[in-house]
Amino acid sequence: PLVLGIETSCDETGVGIVRGHTLLADAVASSVEEHARFGGVVPEVASRAHLEAMVPTIERACATAGVSLRDLDAIAVTSGPGLAGALLVGVASAKALALGLDKPLYGVNHLASHVAVDQLEHGPLPERCLAMLVSGGHSSLLLVDDITLGVTPLGATIDDAAGEAFDKVARVLGLPFPGGPHIDRVAADGEITIDFPRGLTSRKDLERHRFDFSFSGLKTAVARWVEARERAGEPVPVADVAASFQEAVCDVLVRKALDAAAEHDVDTIMIGGGVAANSRLRAMAESRAADRGIRIRVPRPGLCTDNGAMVAALGSELVARGRTPSALDLPADSSQPITTVVA
Ligand code: ATP
Ligand code: MG
Ligand code: FE
Repeated sequence: PLVLGIETSCDETGVGIVRGHTLLADAVASSVEEHARFGGVVPEVASRAHLEAMVPTIERACATAGVSLRDLDAIAVTSGPGLAGALLVGVASAKALALGLDKPLYGVNHLASHVAVDQLEHGPLPERCLAMLVSGGHSSLLLVDDITLGVTPLGATIDDAAGEAFDKVARVLGLPFPGGPHIDRVAADGEITIDFPRGLTSRKDLERHRFDFSFSGLKTAVARWVEARERAGEPVPVADVAASFQEAVCDVLVRKALDAAAEHDVDTIMIGGGVAANSRLRAMAESRAADRGIRIRVPRPGLCTDNGAMVAALGSELVARGRTPSALDLPADSSQPITTVVA
């Protein structure tokens, strides 16, 4: 099926077009620079930017794919979770297209899309796999059989998301927003010299939180370490702190993902969400998984961060499997649960 997907859950206006598992276009307009000086995404600014970018981004995607809107088999859109006003722009646009073109509409889960996108890169997902979703707002381990039917959560962060920790630590280190890519870049020149805490890995914590994460203590530990240096009037070794922090995050993520895969007897781990773009996470997952005979699937970095292709990828799968479309009065749901794949 030929499917157009629209993503507006945060600050990226994404429009993707796929045919089956083939990516034809992935147009993204970002308002990230407008938010940078506030140190975080400003919802009202994001909504207005989506409104302005929507039509040109749809046109750009169609031109790149060489398709006309009339050729589409369905429209998919992120219905949640995300910023309410931002989601509303995408949902309203998708409804207008679906109604005007008389095509089925699928309101899909942003997080399930972060998983489904890998099909564009590595083909159909296996019968059963473990998905590790690590992004700006979520950090979860999910068991996935058929992504169009749902996911089974095994664990999640009990406080900050991994991406949130990257962004907060970047701020402590004086790096620009969003900090994840900057930490990744700066860490490449650093040494892992500081042993920062690995959250929820003590024997006692593992009893209750085997597959859960916690990054808030790590973030605080980094801030304290930096403050102590500054108070002593010593320079902060930014690259070393970044590398050591990054190592702590990746270590816990990879460790728990591998343990969950072993426990549930799956041989494939899919990693998705913005933090999956992290070079250290990718390398560490690959090397540790190889030791245990587990395959890692992670999309190219541009498909890990928010985009429309991921929404189209999930939409295409829903059409292919004959799932029921959403109603035209589909609401945007800022807190759509991870288990609701189609709204
Ligand atoms: P969610 O998907 O939970 O709704 P989101 O859509 O805002 O959140 P994504 O776009 O999926 O989040 O991911 C953005 C996050 O990924 C940010 O926190 C960003 O810092 C982080 N990120 C992006 N690239 C990297 C990288 N190379 N290393 C580490 N973190 C990164
Ligand atoms: Mg973003
Ligand atoms: Fe996302």
